[in-house]
Amino acid sequence: MERLWATWRATYVANATESLRHPEATDCVFCELISRGASLETGIVYLDELTCCVLNAYPYGSGHLLVLPTRHEPRLLGLSAEESANLWATAQRAVAALEHAYGPDGINLGANLGEAAGAGIPSHLHLHALPRWQGDTNFMTSIGETRVLPESLEQTYVRVADAWE
Ligand SMILES: [Zn+2]
Repeated sequence: MERLWATWRATYVANATESLRHPEATDCVFCELISRGASLETGIVYLDELTCCVLNAYPYGSGHLLVLPTRHEPRLLGLSAEESANLWATAQRAVAALEHAYGPDGINLGANLGEAAGAGIPSHLHLHALPRWQGDTNFMTSIGETRVLPESLEQTYVRVADAWE
């Protein structure tokens, strides 16, 4: 699926794309972002010792967040009980932030475990949280396999960070 960007922003996308194109430059794009901390540049809206929430650099729609453990772990069953509990707590806060920031009709929350299941970065477990609206499978998606994103990642960052509690 291709994406049409309705607004343009450079730094974060360029950096994230660069990391993905040159995996030898860093073992894991998530670990690399986490090591740089929460900021507009990294797209990390929330970070604690065990978990973080980061904007998806390749969003399926506006407000597409990823919730992940800070430790590099591919397997859901590889998480400790504490990491598991914290991951779920951060997922709840991500959902709350999306509800507050976007007032969506619904939210997709879930994980693709393994490459065969569609995980883009299978080596580092992550949950997707994506706000949805009635009828948001629009013309462009149906016809062209292309999504139009009405807001930039920068705008998403500010909205979600403001709504985070
Ligand atoms: Zn990692």
